[in-house]
Amino acid sequence: MSDIQSLLALQSDDLAIHELETKLAALEPRIRELDARKQRILDTIERQSALVAAEEKKQAFLRDKIQEHRQLIERNQAQLDAVKTMRQATAAAAQMEQAKKIVAGEESDLLSLNRKLEEMRGALNGAKADLAACEEEQATARSEVAAERATYEGELKAAVAKRAVAAKEVPSALLNRYDRIRNKKRVHVVVALNSLSCGACDTAIPMQRRHEMMSGTAIELCEVCGVLMYHAV
Ligand SMILES: [Zn+2]
Repeated sequence: MSDIQSLLALQSDDLAIHELETKLAALEPRIRELDARKQRILDTIERQSALVAAEEKKQAFLRDKIQEHRQLIERNQAQLDAVKTMRQATAAAAQMEQAKKIVAGEESDLLSLNRKLEEMRGALNGAKADLAACEEEQATARSEVAAERATYEGELKAAVAKRAVAAKEVPSALLNRYDRIRNKKRVHVVVALNSLSCGACDTAIPMQRRHEMMSGTAIELCEVCGVLMYHAV
């Protein structure tokens, strides 16, 4: 096998590796999209839970207050029963009237709080149902992505092993040159001449290098675009 042939074999392995890496990378946005959709629902649940918890705290506080004020009314009633004079009776009755007004106000507050809480719990339960539906809906998509990933990773492992074997066939100086030129963005770096021009950028090769290149064994660097050029015999 000539140097050019072994280099082309290596490049073909590298292109296969690149293609698999590209496919694997393309799975990432799909996963991110699934995660993002689920996260939005989780955020809603967290927000709704916090709201419900805050209202429940208010509700407990209000219930305590009502109980406290009812006891006050009972005490007022007892006082009223025990009074001896008209003046005392008037004062106790006024006090009790005041306490009853407070309790009535608090009970009406509690009623509207209970209604509000019911609505909030409904919204929270709705979000929880959304989450369950989302997880069920995503289960298929996630297992598909996982299966694709496993396939590509298996193929990639084999391709990397094949590449290691192919690299041994390329003379080390040429291999170094090739590896230096290649990078993540530029994967196709060994290019056949297109008549007397670079097959990648179409720049004509200098006169003085033509003869050597056309003889079929030379591998030259294109000084314009940086690929390795060879003459396909
Ligand atoms: Zn070029």
